[in-house]
Amino acid sequence: MSTADVVSAKAALVRGVGGPFTIETIEVAAPREHEVRVRMVATGMCHTDLVARDGFPVPMPIVLGHEGAGVVESVGAKVTGLKVGDHVVLSFNSCADCPSCGAAKPAYCYNFLAHNFSGVRPADGSSPLSQKGDRVSGNFFGQSSFGTYAIAHERNTVRVDSDLPLELLGPLGCGIQTGAGAAVNSVGLKKGQSLAIFGGGAVGLSALLGARAIGAGTVIMIEPNPSRGALALELGATHVINPKETADVLAKIKELSGGGVNHALDTTGIPAVVAVAVETMLPNGMLGLIAVPPPDATLPANMMSMLIRGVGVKYITEGDADPQEFIPRMLGWYRAGKFPFDRLITKFPFDQINEAAHASEKGHAIKPVLVF
Ligand SMILES: [Zn+2]
Ligand SMILES: [Zn+2]
Repeated sequence: MSTADVVSAKAALVRGVGGPFTIETIEVAAPREHEVRVRMVATGMCHTDLVARDGFPVPMPIVLGHEGAGVVESVGAKVTGLKVGDHVVLSFNSCADCPSCGAAKPAYCYNFLAHNFSGVRPADGSSPLSQKGDRVSGNFFGQSSFGTYAIAHERNTVRVDSDLPLELLGPLGCGIQTGAGAAVNSVGLKKGQSLAIFGGGAVGLSALLGARAIGAGTVIMIEPNPSRGALALELGATHVINPKETADVLAKIKELSGGGVNHALDTTGIPAVVAVAVETMLPNGMLGLIAVPPPDATLPANMMSMLIRGVGVKYITEGDADPQEFIPRMLGWYRAGKFPFDRLITKFPFDQINEAAHASEKGHAIKPVLVF
């Protein structure tokens, strides 16, 4: 690689636990054999970015960001299927070689942490990012998209049609994929079946969108924030339950669904909520757990009750999605008018990244998207 191939970029660095994000000039290396360099157009902000900023172990200083959308600026020598000028969405990365990757289940890659949280290329411990010769950690989710240029791997770079609104598409790479995939992939929701969704944030509302896209029947959203409840109704929830105003949420779900729902999703990570969710399901139901729980939490489920109904509980990563297959599938729904994920997005200029994080934490923005 020649130094002439390095580009300088504006990126948001996190230098210490808790942040803030500081926008600085860094250098981004040329792409290696199986990498691409992408000029970012916009990037979503996901809860995991803030978890990493606030102490989930990542080596700092680091450039976070893992819902990038942009245009391929240069390609490595062995990249096939991507070329300069392609519009792309970046998703999580995976190793390609483990049993999960071999079974087209990259969300359960045995080497997921190394490929998404280590801050380096797992093969040799290098980072594609630097600042005046000093190391800056990159490769967050195989991309580090909080910058004007990002290095991604061909595996986690998904080409999209150039007539689509690229600046809206980044969240398809993580948060929206996670929610929609949880409904239609992970718990196996089928057309006409019923679903209860606990929590109407970005992931819960995306699960609702996925359920609607495949023609689910009753979809009940349990959400205490009235404006999010109202949005859920607009997006096709058949019922919204405000748990602050409902004495017995379980009884209400059974009443609204005619005895119980086929499947349920928890996006809250709160054990007391999971305890209700596991009781809402009809026989052979599956409860999908998505949120990051308190570190010492255990499942609060009655085993006899589960046995009698034959219900299951599954923890979900990235909606069981293979991004190369699932992102085009979501875009097909979007084109057909069945998946209005743009309704979840609030745009911010990139230099207002701290304001975007604040809006997300305060619940004022469901899915912030930073536009470069
Ligand atoms: Zn793997
Ligand atoms: Zn994410």
